[in-house]
Amino acid sequence: MKAWENNIRKVTPYTPGEQPNQPDMIKLNTNENPYPPAPGVQRVLREMNGELLRLYPDPAAGVLVKAIADRYHLGEDQVFVGVGSDDVLAMCFLTFFNSKKPILFPDITYSFYDVWAELFRIPYERPPLDEGFHIRKEDYFRENGGVVFPNPNAPTGVEMPLEDIEDILKANPDVIVIVDEAYVDFGACSALPLIEKYENLLVVQTFSKSRSLAGMRIGFACGNPVLIKYLNDVKYSFNSYTMDRTALAAGVEAIKDEAYFQETCSKIMETRERAKGELKKLGFSFQDSKSNFIFAEHESCPAAELFQALREQHIYVRYFPKGRTGNHLRITIGTPREMEAFFAFLRKYLKKN
Ligand code: PMP
Repeated sequence: MKAWENNIRKVTPYTPGEQPNQPDMIKLNTNENPYPPAPGVQRVLREMNGELLRLYPDPAAGVLVKAIADRYHLGEDQVFVGVGSDDVLAMCFLTFFNSKKPILFPDITYSFYDVWAELFRIPYERPPLDEGFHIRKEDYFRENGGVVFPNPNAPTGVEMPLEDIEDILKANPDVIVIVDEAYVDFGACSALPLIEKYENLLVVQTFSKSRSLAGMRIGFACGNPVLIKYLNDVKYSFNSYTMDRTALAAGVEAIKDEAYFQETCSKIMETRERAKGELKKLGFSFQDSKSNFIFAEHESCPAAELFQALREQHIYVRYFPKGRTGNHLRITIGTPREMEAFFAFLRKYLKKN
């Protein structure tokens, strides 16, 4: 080993879901939205003046911050934007989790949290979910360096009631509590109204799921202006120009089109509810999901086998082979047609085996 190897920051990176590229594939593996972005987004991209790209974008991302603030009836000083919620969450970890005490997040949750904790050398503990994959709020009532969890949780899709979130906030006045609401728009209750009441709460959301813009990379955090200022201080110490001109223009159009947003979210929720019925008929069990995916286990067929069989048909779902999630598949809700093709294959396959 070379001497300089000792000085290298070594990390085990997060593994993103596969992005296969087959024309006939049914892609239910990375919780993308099956519907295109709002028509205004596509228009603004077509009309974009490429000449302007020689100029830096607004480092404060003013137009997008304003559009988000208007949509959620907040002040512009209560909103922070970033390159997807991964960027926003990474900035939050770097800014707010700077204690010697461990931060807390569930054992089964978004698998980027422990990667950031390792990267930034933040100590952490992972209280286990209960048997039914629910977060036990009492596990978060002890001394810690900060709290973070998704609501609904990923990859389970399970929602935590707002009263329980409020109990966690009340028990943790001395640290920052981050609620990652990547999937909240598919029928769960948002903690956003609580930011007026709890100065230590940050709510993080994304344009990747409910606004069909995973390919654009836009996420945001809402909270007390003091927290937003600290976040901006760290951001400007890292990279001033996070949001490019295209993302700013597209993001504004996406958030402006409330009718399209409501319509596509409703369609996905309807398809999800029908999918729950179909999965049950086929012998799957799962906790109730309030997100755009269902985390399901089959009564007899191992998840690894199903994952492979589906893959051979170019039907992609997500499989996390290790530990308590090792016999589950995470199935993103696609269009009714995609779901029908998925179920048609399962009906045949499960009958045969
Ligand atoms: N939080 C959770 C719980 C997620 O599942 C994801 C999607 N991988 C993200 C945050 C990040 O999404 P994005 O960076 O696309 O906003």
